[in-house]
Amino acid sequence: MNYSRFLTAVSAARKPSPIRILTELQQRSPPTLISLAGGAPNPDTFPFHSASIKMKNGETIEFDGAMMKRALQYSGSYGIPELISWMKELQKRLHNPPTASFSPERGQMEMCVTTGSQEGLCKVFEMLVNPGDTVLLDAPTYSGTLAALQPLGCNIVNVPSDQYGMIPDSLRDILAQWDSHKPDSTTPKVLYTIPNGGNPTGASMTLERKQKVYELAKKYDFLIIEDDPYYFLQFQKPWASTFLSLDVDGRVIRTDSFSKILSSGLRIGFVTGPKPLVDRVVLHIQASTMHTSTLTQLMVSQLLHGWGQEGFLKHIDGVVEFYRAQRNAMLSSADKWLKDVAEWHAPVAGMFLWIKLKGIKDTQQLIMEKALEKEVLLVPGGVFNIHSSEPCPYVRAAFSLSTPQQIDEAFKRLSALIKEAL
Ligand code: PMP
Ligand code: PLP
Repeated sequence: MNYSRFLTAVSAARKPSPIRILTELQQRSPPTLISLAGGAPNPDTFPFHSASIKMKNGETIEFDGAMMKRALQYSGSYGIPELISWMKELQKRLHNPPTASFSPERGQMEMCVTTGSQEGLCKVFEMLVNPGDTVLLDAPTYSGTLAALQPLGCNIVNVPSDQYGMIPDSLRDILAQWDSHKPDSTTPKVLYTIPNGGNPTGASMTLERKQKVYELAKKYDFLIIEDDPYYFLQFQKPWASTFLSLDVDGRVIRTDSFSKILSSGLRIGFVTGPKPLVDRVVLHIQASTMHTSTLTQLMVSQLLHGWGQEGFLKHIDGVVEFYRAQRNAMLSSADKWLKDVAEWHAPVAGMFLWIKLKGIKDTQQLIMEKALEKEVLLVPGGVFNIHSSEPCPYVRAAFSLSTPQQIDEAFKRLSALIKEAL
């Protein structure tokens, strides 16, 4: 793969920060090294001393004085080494990427820690997307993605989708307008998709579709951005094979998130992809946040090393069971209250039900004006469209936070609201 043609001028011009290089070096050196190099402040002057974080299982994560000093200090921009190595092992186990071992000799794959997958996504887009570039995605899509992409001045092309995700035949038809042998400046460079429990549609893409989309990516030579924050919230086993697991060429950049399984407020996620591209993301991190909070990283790293992969996956099982029960509660309340006035598909992952209101042309006004009066709030579907002003008959309902009783009452109120509007 020649990645240089994919980079924006800004990304291509990024150079390593000389001081950051020293920080990485220092991180890998023995404690006997005397460094007068970094501009690191002296943590003895910081007011925090130690911390002890109680876990729900009764165990504690201890930050003694020395550990706390490290937690309060600058660290490397890829992420702290023990967390990165844990996550590389996890990625190998879950996705077995064909291009990877992450080893330096074969090392085509790389990973870095990000301050949530949103940061990773935003930096990936800014690395790849120039004004006028064509970007493929299956809208409706995550509004945070649109917020990061649209200001870049790209031409977003919508690929039709259904409850099984992006439709490969539709993608093929769209791509047919370009000559795969003679790519020009408008040939799509990137395709973005949310493969599991899509936000807002709840759609999950089948492996067969991923294989077909990957073949098209090979033919037209574009990159695939796999934004998968709901990967760990799949209700069916075995979990779906990912684009990363199919990536024989090194054309997939995957963003993962701990937001739905460990904490959304700690702000931690990770990017996995071809080393030349992840290295560019890290140069951007060097110039912006420098690194994800060391305290956050150490807290997560201690948790994961304490758990091991088995403990982590056991925790995930518990999270999945919770969301499965919540989904089932929402589906039964929907059956009870909304059968005559709405349509939906049962999601197999994630935390959203995407509901089409029958006989309502646009949900924007209904939700923003009338729903609050009835004391029920949902997201009007239009905000997830490329052109948010186009009428949209859908609403997004999250089953993550409300109790089954609250969900039932909310759908009762929604049903009354729809009936009044008809
Ligand atoms: N600006 C200047 C002039 C600095 O010296 C530094 C830190 N060395 C920063 C900004 C970055 O600070 P922060 O750690 O708050 O991102
Ligand atoms: N991508 C999608 C599809 C999401 O739904 C979200 C969160 O809502 C994010 C990314 C952002 O996740 P994070 O909290 O890891 O930044």
